[in-house]
Amino acid sequence: MTEKIIPEHVDPLRYAEQGLGLDGLVHISDMQRLQSVSKTADAPVKVKLQFGIDEQGLLFLKGSLQTKLTLQCQRCMEPYIYEIMSDFALGIVETLDEANALPEHYEPAMAEEGKLALRDLIEDEIILNLPIIPRHRVEDCKVNLPLADAGWEQAKRENPFHVLKTLKQKQR
Ligand SMILES: [Zn+2]
Repeated sequence: MTEKIIPEHVDPLRYAEQGLGLDGLVHISDMQRLQSVSKTADAPVKVKLQFGIDEQGLLFLKGSLQTKLTLQCQRCMEPYIYEIMSDFALGIVETLDEANALPEHYEPAMAEEGKLALRDLIEDEIILNLPIIPRHRVEDCKVNLPLADAGWEQAKRENPFHVLKTLKQKQR
């Protein structure tokens, strides 16, 4: 079975009014910002989307995505596979005022001139889920944990101020 490619843009009002869903793929090569993060030809992102209008009359887009990216471990500089599975609930808006008025359970998704940039939204969602410092789990990494780093791991649990101090020292 060949899976469909998620369109770049949709008309959110039409999709929401008809309660349409989309089930398909987005290729990493179609996401400019992610290409700089993931160097290899990764498998496409699997996406499920459901549009609708809630009881408050708000247009929403709920969905989930799943993908595996090849990131570079910042400790040993070797590639490693990072899996992302994420659920999201977006409120579709056209102005900043509408975005600010959204209830807390929605993240705003801005539509422009009746178009919603779906692939951009999916890319945003993936970027939000990337690790701040990509690295293997300690047991999978080729580089043994240096002493300073071990101290950092421990400090994280013990004292948040100590972490700040350690980070400052590292930046020098
Ligand atoms: Zn590593």
